[in-house]
Amino acid sequence: MQKKESHNTICSYCGVGCGITVSKDIRGTLSVHGTEDYPVNKGMLCSKGKNLNYVAQDISDRILYPKMRWSRNHSLQKTTWDIAFKRAAAVFKSIIDKHGPDSVGFYVSGQCLTEEYYLANKLTKGFIGTNNIDTNSRLCMSSAVVGYKKTLGEDAVPISYDDIELADCFLIAGANPAWCHPILFRRLEKHKEDNPKVKVLVVDPRKTQTSALADQHLQILPGTDVILFNAIARWLIERKKIDTSFIRKYTSNFEACKQSAFQLTLKQAAYQCGITTEEIKKAAKLISNSKRFISMWTMGLNQSVIGVDKNVALLNISLLTGQLGKPGCGPFSLTGQPNAMGGREVGGMANLLAAHRDLGNSQHRKEVEDFWGGKPIKKEAGLTASEMFNALESGKLKAIWIICTNPVVSLPNARKVEAALEKANFVVVQDISHKSETTKYADLLLPAAGWLEKEGTMTNSERRISYLPKVIDPPAEAMPDVEILWRFAQEMGYKGFDYNSASEVYDEYCLMTKGTNIDISGLSYERLRKEGSFQWPVPHKLHKGTPRLFQNHDYYTSNRKAHFNAPKKLYNQSEQTNTEYPLILNTGRVRDQWHTRTKTGKVKRLLTHIPIPYLEMNKVDAFLHGLKEDDVVVVSSRRGSVRVKVKINFDIREKVVFLPMHWGKILKNDFSRANNITNDLVDPISKEPDFKYCAVKVEKY
Ligand code: SF4
Repeated sequence: MQKKESHNTICSYCGVGCGITVSKDIRGTLSVHGTEDYPVNKGMLCSKGKNLNYVAQDISDRILYPKMRWSRNHSLQKTTWDIAFKRAAAVFKSIIDKHGPDSVGFYVSGQCLTEEYYLANKLTKGFIGTNNIDTNSRLCMSSAVVGYKKTLGEDAVPISYDDIELADCFLIAGANPAWCHPILFRRLEKHKEDNPKVKVLVVDPRKTQTSALADQHLQILPGTDVILFNAIARWLIERKKIDTSFIRKYTSNFEACKQSAFQLTLKQAAYQCGITTEEIKKAAKLISNSKRFISMWTMGLNQSVIGVDKNVALLNISLLTGQLGKPGCGPFSLTGQPNAMGGREVGGMANLLAAHRDLGNSQHRKEVEDFWGGKPIKKEAGLTASEMFNALESGKLKAIWIICTNPVVSLPNARKVEAALEKANFVVVQDISHKSETTKYADLLLPAAGWLEKEGTMTNSERRISYLPKVIDPPAEAMPDVEILWRFAQEMGYKGFDYNSASEVYDEYCLMTKGTNIDISGLSYERLRKEGSFQWPVPHKLHKGTPRLFQNHDYYTSNRKAHFNAPKKLYNQSEQTNTEYPLILNTGRVRDQWHTRTKTGKVKRLLTHIPIPYLEMNKVDAFLHGLKEDDVVVVSSRRGSVRVKVKINFDIREKVVFLPMHWGKILKNDFSRANNITNDLVDPISKEPDFKYCAVKVEKY
């Protein structure tokens, strides 16, 4: 009998944040299973989580040593860490001396651990002196962040997964949790199985595995969510199905919401949404009959040129019905990445500061400056994700440091991203895998430690902070990201980066949150190891965490009331279809792949579900295009094209087509990369790209 050691950690994929127990036998072979007593998943794991041991053990694609090249005409050569840090610091210093601190930027990831995110922010905003640090969470959650701030006064998810089992009605909009948040969906499914009276409404232009569970599927036209939510609000107000006492006592700006909702009649709204008036009335009635109502959403609302408007229109429904601050109810944005929340907490975006402080607030800037003891922090927001690559292309930004993300596949209008990286003076890529298409553009390639190879913390969708232990050594010379960052900062000559462990970084961040609304000064690695996970705030060492916010209805706005917001735009502002590009393209995930497949693409078992990219198309459109199942088609927009097989069904609306977003360049070409054709338009406030809507044409290859 071999002796095994076991460690409890957290899944490295989606924002559900399932607990995983990793066992290592005497030969070092890893196996994984869901942690039985972890409150999120109670022993369950989805297909991606179940196969994480293969990903962790397969080092065939890993970057093992620092590599660099002196010019783009040369290939990358193996180097030492000392030389790599010296070169990085020398190039950054010379660019900053010549062009100023805003000529450099960092592009990081919702998969970074909190300590890494925190340190990258401290380095950039506090010491280099630029706010040019943004994250790929900009691509998924920034519209929700703005929506929460406008409504609740802060980016604060009010509820917990445990509220799911208490709710009696769910509105799931622009999301397919059955595939993208499977364990969370399993909890919802079980709750409905056990309580058949529980109602589920799904808003999605496609029929999905999620909509299959729904009592009502509102298959609206893409981009019409604001009109739908406003129409529901209008019906609730007209029928006096609103909670007037809650609105009077705990909210402000109701009249603005009402005026916005009354701009269109239900009939006009139904026409715009491509559904019937009866469908809107039925949905509104189901919500009004609910005693405990939860709304859930992800990218269908967020990844839009009117993403903030979609968010506030949905949040208004929770306020109208008084479904906030009580068990079993509230708005619940589902985060895509495992630590998108942690990144938001430490100020990991170009317009944020650590511990939910505001960049535009001079007092907040002073608090952070005093705490870090670095340079004055600029009040203007830095470059956001798309802006950063635009600035590289225009020459305004000279150097970029990319950590744990693959923008060549994941950003919209990807050819533009490639052109930008080609033009950059200096590109640092810090990652685990050569499979990332972005590594090709690196002048300096730094091998990072991966999941299980370093310690740190993450926060999931329900504000739950968990500790991830180091279980195995990183291969060859790969180094934890947090150490790469502090060693670079030391090489730059900055004081305040003399850490010896990730734990010291975490203690510093916890202290920095003291007195804020996300106070976790009561946390430490020791507590997380001993007592398990905690939901913030955790303001002192005996505090057990906070599963639900706003139970006293003291919101974080200036008047301490939840704020109704009138959406600025009712109608979608995306690129419009025309006779040349008559179809609307929607992009998204498939069940067994993750982001740009650098990890899930390695697991054969995960390729059995959907092995290759495809275009989903309605049967009527396929007939009109003379297409049959599995025909190869070229999908083109004004920016480029992709070539894939077509899958034909009645699940997707006519005039709408769908492409999965995961595949990059395969077979030495980029014909399957969805972002060849997506649009780089962004929401004017959240700066989140409009991934879910662009005009395309489809032709038989
Ligand atoms: Fe991992 Fe998300 Fe699956 Fe849970 S639901 S196992 S966190 S991918």
